[in-house]
Amino acid sequence: TPAKIDHSSETVCPFCSVGCRVNLNIANDRVVYAEGADGPANHGRLCVKGRFGFDYLRHPDRLTVPLIRRDDAPKDPSHNLHGADILKLFRPATWDEALDRAATGFRELRDSLGGDSLAVLGSAKGSNEDAYILQKAARTAFRTAHIDHCTRLCSSVPPLAEATGFSAVTIPIEQIAFADVALMVGSNPDVNHPVGASVIKNAVRHGTKLILVDPYQQSLSRLATHYLQLSPGTDVALLSAMTRVVTSEGLYDADFVRQRLEGFDELLERIEPYTPDVAAAVCGVSAETIVQAARLFAKASAAMCFWGMGASQHVHGADNIRAVIAFALVCGQVGRPGAGLHPLRGQNNVQGSCDAGLGPSYLPGYRPIVEEQRALFEGLWGTSLPEGPGLSTIEIMNAARARRVKGLYVVGGNPSMANPDLAATREALAKLDHLVVQDIFPTETAAFADVILPAAALAERSGTVTNTDRIVQLVEPVLPPPGQAREDWTITSSIAERLGVSSLGHTHESIFDEMASVVPVLNGLSWSKLKAERHVRYPIHPAEAMTDVSSGFDAGLQDSLFAEAFPCGKARISPLHGLQPIEPPDAEFPLILVTGRVREHWHTGSMTRRADVLDALAPEALVHVNSADFDRLGLSAEQMVSVETRRGVISARPVADEKLQAGVIWMAMSFVESAVNELTINKLDNYTRVPEYKFCSARIVSA
Ligand code: SF4
Repeated sequence: TPAKIDHSSETVCPFCSVGCRVNLNIANDRVVYAEGADGPANHGRLCVKGRFGFDYLRHPDRLTVPLIRRDDAPKDPSHNLHGADILKLFRPATWDEALDRAATGFRELRDSLGGDSLAVLGSAKGSNEDAYILQKAARTAFRTAHIDHCTRLCSSVPPLAEATGFSAVTIPIEQIAFADVALMVGSNPDVNHPVGASVIKNAVRHGTKLILVDPYQQSLSRLATHYLQLSPGTDVALLSAMTRVVTSEGLYDADFVRQRLEGFDELLERIEPYTPDVAAAVCGVSAETIVQAARLFAKASAAMCFWGMGASQHVHGADNIRAVIAFALVCGQVGRPGAGLHPLRGQNNVQGSCDAGLGPSYLPGYRPIVEEQRALFEGLWGTSLPEGPGLSTIEIMNAARARRVKGLYVVGGNPSMANPDLAATREALAKLDHLVVQDIFPTETAAFADVILPAAALAERSGTVTNTDRIVQLVEPVLPPPGQAREDWTITSSIAERLGVSSLGHTHESIFDEMASVVPVLNGLSWSKLKAERHVRYPIHPAEAMTDVSSGFDAGLQDSLFAEAFPCGKARISPLHGLQPIEPPDAEFPLILVTGRVREHWHTGSMTRRADVLDALAPEALVHVNSADFDRLGLSAEQMVSVETRRGVISARPVADEKLQAGVIWMAMSFVESAVNELTINKLDNYTRVPEYKFCSARIVSA
């Protein structure tokens, strides 16, 4: 018998940054089914995760009471402990006891060794209010500059900020409807941003030409007019050659370059060696295709650039992104309807978490950590702030291994599955004197905690989140949190209070309004405006102009869009360093391992692996192997194999995949029983400090 629906309410999907609004239908305190609501980004559409991903809300593994580690529990637990097994290491506690224990450990370290001995890791799946309070607590109560979150693992923030003066897309996805051409580099939206991909596919069906740059022959390749299947790690050479084509053939936008761009002459010098023939030899893409694609993009009356983690998650990720941005800027393909830069962001609140200052390099609103800006916040918050910048996500773990960081507060992240080289991360977690984990599930990271604090999920609370298109959306609770779980910012405030800093924030409204007052692009936005309108795209004035493009490309509108795209007035091209992958294949490890995600699961799988339909659709880790390699190695889908790198060994089922290049294998990151980050390499891009997830040497051994 179909369940009788008690009530239906809207929230925002907690997974990717498209930010689909979803209507949850509830019976007996459980989600019976989800439907797409008419949100500003999805207009009723949902992907498979949004449709079937909500079982996690009432999963029996949900944390419902605070927990304190048992005195007899080993500090370095087996990494085979998952879910309910982790709970055996802990005993229930009252909120007061758990908060006292959590705060005491941090206070003792802070007061004896200084705030530098502490670090705080947040998450891009929390709300803006969570992110703002967490960074405020870190800087004022923990007194540390070491604060970061998972956006670090897929960051386009620094290259975008250095080029345009602001770390956000310059144009929303839907503007592709006005683009003649779209260039997509290292992104597979059909899998990772499916509703966004539906907008892109629709535009392609209506005439937008797609240039796809990706080593993997993903489904969008069928729609591409030019598919450039480059060898992994060769993006800089390819994009430099495309830029050289348009500059040498006079196809670049000379007016734009003269009036709006810095760094052009240095760029010309740098790209000079990259003739199409040279790039073809490096990338494995024909010189003719490189030339055709470059001309197509440059000659378009409006062209958009998209990129994703395939571009950013390299030791040369910053240069990959700089090369994409430089190509678009030289062609003048920014600041007009249908022309602009759009990194497809990761989690649902990547944009908002960064705006809120949840990182070690910026204060809220991307304000640099310099004396004048620090003084502004010291005045507002009534206390001195640590000098920064602090350590980034992976650097914090490296510092914990070296015993420089001794206390860690993890809110909503799961480094014990998400970080590269998990053995190194586990070593770091085990060496901490004090670890507090705040989450909705007992994650693999929580297995190392001294205290676990139960948090409410997004559908169980109020707050705001900001999607990849800079749309701020208000959410209200659809269900109550289970047991004693609380909203993240209230827990953080309680810890800060015990560390001697009270009044971090009192209500959602006061927190959001404080954040809006210090984040320049949010000026003019308030909780009450969001209450009235439900969602607002910022910055408010030019964005209103942006949605009205029917009038065409008039000069006033162009200026308005340009001001939005480049608040600093001029765009800047930065020099590239052209680094190579850090661990090329060799005789011992002859394959290239690339990691990514599958459509059915989200990141470390803590939520979607606990959703029945999604787990039934994608129940196990597969190692994708190029079809010819699959035969050559004598593999069978019936027989598990060992996948090995210099960091570790995991077991997985092999599958032949003709869309992969020879010598390349691919695995998704969401399967704890075959955690691919056991294998990845802990090396960082010098500039963005993003790890090299997309390239390390590996081998396959039949079991
Ligand atoms: Fe959720 Fe993203 Fe799917 Fe939309 S596209 S339903 S936001 S996972």
